[in-house]
Amino acid sequence: MVTQMSMGSGSSVDSRGSRHQFRCHCNKVAPLRTVKVRGPNHGRRFYGCINYPDHCGFMRWEDEVTDFQDLQLRVLEKDTIISELEYEKEELHQIVKKLKGRKDIVLEDEMKELKFEVARLRTEMTNYLKAFFVCMVVIVVVLIGK
Ligand SMILES: [Zn+2]
Repeated sequence: MVTQMSMGSGSSVDSRGSRHQFRCHCNKVAPLRTVKVRGPNHGRRFYGCINYPDHCGFMRWEDEVTDFQDLQLRVLEKDTIISELEYEKEELHQIVKKLKGRKDIVLEDEMKELKFEVARLRTEMTNYLKAFFVCMVVIVVVLIGK
């Protein structure tokens, strides 16, 4: 803050009125400044490192910032967002996988139970059939015996 004040650039620090936003090599938003030094560039506005004059070397003339550069920057930001989203997607994918795994286990248990039930019913049916067959034989024998 103190360095900004000592710059004496006033409104140039404010992001109002600047169409673009740059991050310098310190990964800090580079404020829009005005050249105070007398010379050919006096009064010209530029985006510079916030740590100026102990700056990282980042500097862009405001009037030289093309829409293309701006676009590149936006694309970079989008890329970051996209990779973050992809990371989240991957996380969700892992969660879904885990849930699916659990579902499979549940299904497997249910299947085992069903198989057991079927086997039980089959044995029961066989027993009933056996009993029925025995009854029939007894009836037939009794009828023949008459
Ligand atoms: Zn910097």
